[in-house]
Amino acid sequence: MRWLGRRGSGNIEDRRSGGGKVALGGGALVVAIILGLITGKNPLEMLDMVQSGGAPQEQTTPTSAPTDEEGKFVDVVLADTEEVWGAIFKENGSTYQEPNLVLFRGSVASACGSASAATGPFYCPTDQKVYIDLSFKDDLTKRFGAGGDFPMAYVIAHEVGHHIQNLMGTSDKVQAMRGQVSETEYNRLSVKLELQADFYAGVWANHAQKMFNSIEDGDIQEALTAAAAIGDDRLQKQSQGEIVPDAFTHGTSEQRMRWFKKGYETGDINQGDTFNASSL
Ligand SMILES: [Zn+2]
Repeated sequence: MRWLGRRGSGNIEDRRSGGGKVALGGGALVVAIILGLITGKNPLEMLDMVQSGGAPQEQTTPTSAPTDEEGKFVDVVLADTEEVWGAIFKENGSTYQEPNLVLFRGSVASACGSASAATGPFYCPTDQKVYIDLSFKDDLTKRFGAGGDFPMAYVIAHEVGHHIQNLMGTSDKVQAMRGQVSETEYNRLSVKLELQADFYAGVWANHAQKMFNSIEDGDIQEALTAAAAIGDDRLQKQSQGEIVPDAFTHGTSEQRMRWFKKGYETGDINQGDTFNASSL
């Protein structure tokens, strides 16, 4: 991805030097579910974690511009998402509210609870922040075989996709179904939410290319490799040796690749209604 020399977002909270303290508060006040997990963690398990963790103390780090290479890359990608979604929201007669992105190392306290690097990148709708431990980049390369710089851009764009769903009220609608439907049905809704976030990541790539000519040969393939690597079927097979479709929460490798690609090819947010699609 061509990114050097472009503006950074200025909405980065860099908590990497904080040593990863986990703030645990009392009471089970937090009912928000972490929607933004990109790896195959079950959101229901995450909710348990959030509830048992209790309400963490609100933590906000002043935003700053990272000075290291990896941090700068994230800063530029986040800025690119602001440009793209700012324009799309404006076209549709509304104003885009930019999310903050928290860089952390080890573990982090969010308004959705405490999380560790093992959780993978996530979006917390309560504080409207994206959380990323950059060690996930090594995971993508070593564990998932998705090298290059573009997979991290895809991951950021996917998490920002959850922010879009939050702004549009989509994630609230899904969350309202919790407890109303069976776990299997809820997992299906979760898959639709995740595939739509992949679609939005593709929409972002389409517009970023038009605005900044930022996509290089091989970038889309890198994103597709990453999307395939973190499909539920692939992850389940790796972790438990068998595939249990009812437990899917993010979609198969093929689905994740296809919805990202659809977003990239159309660039049209109206083509991404995974909830009413005749097939996923
Ligand atoms: Zn996600």
